[in-house]
Amino acid sequence: MPDVRYLFPDGKKSALTFSYDDGRDFDRRLVERFNHYGFKGTFNLNTSSLDKPGRLTVAELPTLFAGHEVAVHAYHHPFLERIARSQLVGELLQDRQNLEAIFHRPVTGLAYPYGTYDPEVLAALRGMGFTYARTAGDETGNFRFPQDWLVWRPTCHHKRALEYVDGFLNERWMLTVLYIWGHSYEFDHDNNWELVDQLGERLSNQPQVWYATNGELQHYLDSIHRLVFTVAMDAIYNPTDCTIWLKVDNERVLTIAPGQTLRLED
Ligand SMILES: [Zn+2]
Repeated sequence: MPDVRYLFPDGKKSALTFSYDDGRDFDRRLVERFNHYGFKGTFNLNTSSLDKPGRLTVAELPTLFAGHEVAVHAYHHPFLERIARSQLVGELLQDRQNLEAIFHRPVTGLAYPYGTYDPEVLAALRGMGFTYARTAGDETGNFRFPQDWLVWRPTCHHKRALEYVDGFLNERWMLTVLYIWGHSYEFDHDNNWELVDQLGERLSNQPQVWYATNGELQHYLDSIHRLVFTVAMDAIYNPTDCTIWLKVDNERVLTIAPGQTLRLED
């Protein structure tokens, strides 16, 4: 029986992703640096504050975030576990609908305002078709992806990101993820915009790293879980829309296209 393991797209071993909240005007400077370094980010927007002083404008969003992802951050940015249960639908879906109207595609990711939630909030999210949700304040310090996509804990806040760079780049396992989160205004507040360039110099143009948005990463990893093997593990069917990269017996690198059935014998 073959030993089948997985790689990220283009045979890459690890992935880097960023998540930034609140849609403050400092996102413009951050996106410019991300684009310079080839980084992909997910920007979580509470749409009630758009077009207000110090905030991004609706008109600029499609151009500003081209190549990146936007995700829900709840319309008024409440603590989701401290509001009436009946407010959840409006807070979450109004924000999502606004973003979908601006970007003309489904928006199914979320970052919890203040990073907090409770079991009822999780149940509501599942019912509304959210595919992932990011927490905050409970960073993992490791490079694993979550057991539950609705409780996606990042590796670290950007303040501590440099501490993790060496460990990430030297990680020997496949499918490792360095997930960095923060707020763009913190670079201004802490007067440390140079941190973005330090991360850029260390982490950009790494041949083994896939630069992905949160949503791209979640979708790819979820697609791996959905592959269908024969009992003998001599053939795999890929029912997803992703080309999946795999490594067989730690030597052969193969791909399996959407809809393809791949036979694995020698
Ligand atoms: Zn926030």
